[in-house]
Amino acid sequence: MFDLLIRNATLPDGRTACDIAVRNGRIAAVEPGIDGESAATIDAAGQLVSPPFVDPHFHMDATLSLGLPRMNRSGTLLEGIALWGELRPTLTKEALIERAIRYCDLAVSKGLLAVRSHVDVSDPRLVTAEALLEVRELVAPYLDLQLVAFPQDGYYRAPEAEAALTCALDMGVEIVGGIPHFERTMADGARSVEALCRLAADRGLMVDMHCDETDDPLSRHVETLAAQTVRFGLQGRVAGSHLTSMHSMDNYYVSKLLPLMAESGMAAIPNPLINMMLQGRHDTYPKRRGLTRIPQMMEMGIPVGLGQDCVMDPWYSMGTGDLLDVAHMAVHATQMGSIEDKRALFDAVTVNSARIMGLDGYGLEPGCHADMVLLQARDVTEAIRLRPNRLKVIRRGKVIAETAPERSRLSLDGRPETVDPADYAPVNAS
Ligand SMILES: [Zn+2]
Repeated sequence: MFDLLIRNATLPDGRTACDIAVRNGRIAAVEPGIDGESAATIDAAGQLVSPPFVDPHFHMDATLSLGLPRMNRSGTLLEGIALWGELRPTLTKEALIERAIRYCDLAVSKGLLAVRSHVDVSDPRLVTAEALLEVRELVAPYLDLQLVAFPQDGYYRAPEAEAALTCALDMGVEIVGGIPHFERTMADGARSVEALCRLAADRGLMVDMHCDETDDPLSRHVETLAAQTVRFGLQGRVAGSHLTSMHSMDNYYVSKLLPLMAESGMAAIPNPLINMMLQGRHDTYPKRRGLTRIPQMMEMGIPVGLGQDCVMDPWYSMGTGDLLDVAHMAVHATQMGSIEDKRALFDAVTVNSARIMGLDGYGLEPGCHADMVLLQARDVTEAIRLRPNRLKVIRRGKVIAETAPERSRLSLDGRPETVDPADYAPVNAS
């Protein structure tokens, strides 16, 4: 007897007509034509069932604060940081919790069930850390939230950041963050990378740094992060977020940097939506895209997970909580348009990020947590094209969110009465 049986699903790896059986919150079997009784059955009828979406880079302390205390007029990263600096002293724990939980509702409705959020620890009150630690507990039944101690104003540049970051780790924030390109000098940036990697090694923690989020072709903190990863034996525990300077770097230098990154076992977390918005701001025309070198990294075997970074906050007025928006932007910004490319980008918003976060029991294999999303799309390439409705979002075998299929009614003589966008999937093109 199963608790839930999903019939006729297409899986992200392309297998079709697969049944997925669930017992006690775990996947019991994945194969065609599973025999047995089930308390509940869902007919997936040729539609995609995926493990949940994972966002490995987010700022849950800032989300949904757009317009507080005013809008970002220049639209730049630096005005965003200044604006957040104005808002920060007025933040209350209650307001932070309310915004974060409300955002998690939206995330769940989009099948996004795991988020790594940076927590700004620049304000020594640490009200942000206090609030998000509480949110982590509150949402734990339906969403895995990981927290990074993030010195937004610089680890050395802001006088109280060093002590506040350590304090946040003592409170239970589990990952060491950083922002070397925002320190006063390149040397201070390099020093901060070393100190933060040492701190992570001493405490047995993971590292995830905002790293070289600039258009400066001479920024070198990615190299330093890779080297310190090896030096402190942190292989497999370090991620560099953004890495946008790599877009503008000299190709010869990058041909040396990529193998160093691969050798160090570090992961890369680009954020296509926000980086397309923020980078290239000092250019006239042509304007650089400013997104890091995703296809080259994938070719080198560097793990790549794509993040949202922001949803409606001082840095980014857009965002929907939908990781398929992120993958959709990545297809365009990186010109990764082939079927294989799209499959790789779908992995970058699901399995790759789950691995980078070290999520336990993630996936669609027997024994994994029964966490899944049923989409109104035929396969992963169609999912990225359509960013379709999430018909069912399942956590530990229970449906926690549902959306009706999208269908439009037509009133055109001689034409069909309804249009289902998923019906337009091309034949032999996935
Ligand atoms: Zn960020």
